[in-house]
Amino acid sequence: MKRRVVIVGGGLAGMAAALRVLDAGDQPVLVEGRPQLGGRATSFRDPRTGELLDNCQHVVMGCCTNLLDFYDRIGVGDLIEWHPETYWANPPHEPDVMRPGPLPAPAHFSLSFARMRFLDLRSKRAIARAMLRMIRIGRAGRAGWTDRTFLEFLEETGQTPEAIDLFWRVVVVSACNLDLDEVGASFALQVFQEGFLAHRFASSMGLARVALSELYDPFEEHLRAHGGELQLSTNALAISWDGRRVTGVVTKDGVLEGAAVIAAVPFERLARLCSESLVAADPRLQKLDRMETSPILGVHLFFDATVMELPHLVLPGRDTHWFFNKGVDEQGRQHLHAVISAATDWMALDQTEILERVMRDLTWALPAARGLEPIGHRAIKEKRATFRAGAGVDRIRPPVRAGLGVENLLLAGDWCDTGWPATMEGAVRSGYLAGAEASGGVAGVPDLPVSAGGRLLGL
Ligand SMILES: Cc1cc2nc3c(=O)[nH]c(=O)nc-3n(C[C@H](O)[C@H](O)[C@H](O)COP(=O)(O)OP(=O)(O)OC[C@H]3O[C@@H](n4cnc5c(N)ncnc54)[C@H](O)[C@@H]3O)c2cc1C
Repeated sequence: MKRRVVIVGGGLAGMAAALRVLDAGDQPVLVEGRPQLGGRATSFRDPRTGELLDNCQHVVMGCCTNLLDFYDRIGVGDLIEWHPETYWANPPHEPDVMRPGPLPAPAHFSLSFARMRFLDLRSKRAIARAMLRMIRIGRAGRAGWTDRTFLEFLEETGQTPEAIDLFWRVVVVSACNLDLDEVGASFALQVFQEGFLAHRFASSMGLARVALSELYDPFEEHLRAHGGELQLSTNALAISWDGRRVTGVVTKDGVLEGAAVIAAVPFERLARLCSESLVAADPRLQKLDRMETSPILGVHLFFDATVMELPHLVLPGRDTHWFFNKGVDEQGRQHLHAVISAATDWMALDQTEILERVMRDLTWALPAARGLEPIGHRAIKEKRATFRAGAGVDRIRPPVRAGLGVENLLLAGDWCDTGWPATMEGAVRSGYLAGAEASGGVAGVPDLPVSAGGRLLGL
């Protein structure tokens, strides 16, 4: 007998959960409030131009094994374009390039890192020292850093102000969406240990060749073809509960009954779906009001000429963290996308002020762009982009599984305690686990193996 599992939320966590429920032979019923899938990793049609734009550039890394598995399962893995190297602006010189070289991991970046010119020798030595320390403390050693900030880690390893401002800040803020003096050290350590040092493919950067929302079309087909149900534009109003078990989800059309419910919505939305008595029965729901969010700003820029040849550019020490090259159209117009993470200071700015600041950074990074004005721009503020990955947050991030809570209620979402910062990978991990818990079967897929050298050194 197929069991019905009701999943609330059609972001990556909800979609991943639905795949796992299907794998186990059960029937997922996926309920999404918006007219389309994708949640915070999606696209929208710009009403002024009709163009399909992503809410923000989303980057996948080689270490995101569960997300990549998800893409492969729905047949869109080959729509991801891979970039093993990263370009770092260093005006007035050509950008520096960080790319894996001939040495095995974890030393694969050492040759190109040694050649990078935007950092002095003292800073490079300090960075190498910190990397070695990260390797030596290993993955297990991260646990000892959950209540401390990454800045404390950097201070303990004797980093120069230049290393902090030009290197650590841009990498960590981009990956964890919080500044160094707030972000939990364990999150940043994980980024370097698993995203850079463990395996030479781990840090490769994957960018979708199509608009994000187009990645999910095959999911919809897969779900329906295998007997799953999808209800778009359907808001869950409450999780129904009989005092012992959850029984389904209330929508404006009535109750969708299920043997289990997977709540794959952001934490502040989940709080609104739970009655007081449900919250009282499940410790996972009792700290949701202590979680906070951190914003990201994405700015689409359109030029009537080619401004940037490179696929992307990191801006060390600037307010804008990245520019991505979104391509040149048939009329020769280039689309660039600027990303500013942990963008609290930008949220009160209007479109003109945002454009001025971003253009200042663009002309700093690319002197050839001086004097050029964009022919169009669009800044998208995502105020609640991710949970705030501050020191100690793991104490309040709830697990996916019930534990002492309501056994047939599973939680999913990038904010659940997966050990990952708020990422698409974290969302898929939580969804796979929730689906497997609800219906049985395998939860996640293995991480990339740690290189022999990394293992030998303790990683
Ligand atoms: C601007 C920005 C840039 C980012 N950049 C990156 C990046 O480069 N790399 C990366 O890995 N991650 C990035 N992220 C994070 C990534 O987008 C998220 O971690 C991931 O998409 C979260 O997926 P989720 O399924 O957990 O949640 P969501 O995507 O939020 O999905 C939850 C879904 O639930 C729906 N919902 C809510 N309430 C209800 C209700 N009552 N009834 C029915 N449906 C409901 C919502 O509409 C939504 O579709 C970025 C996020 C943002 C905002």
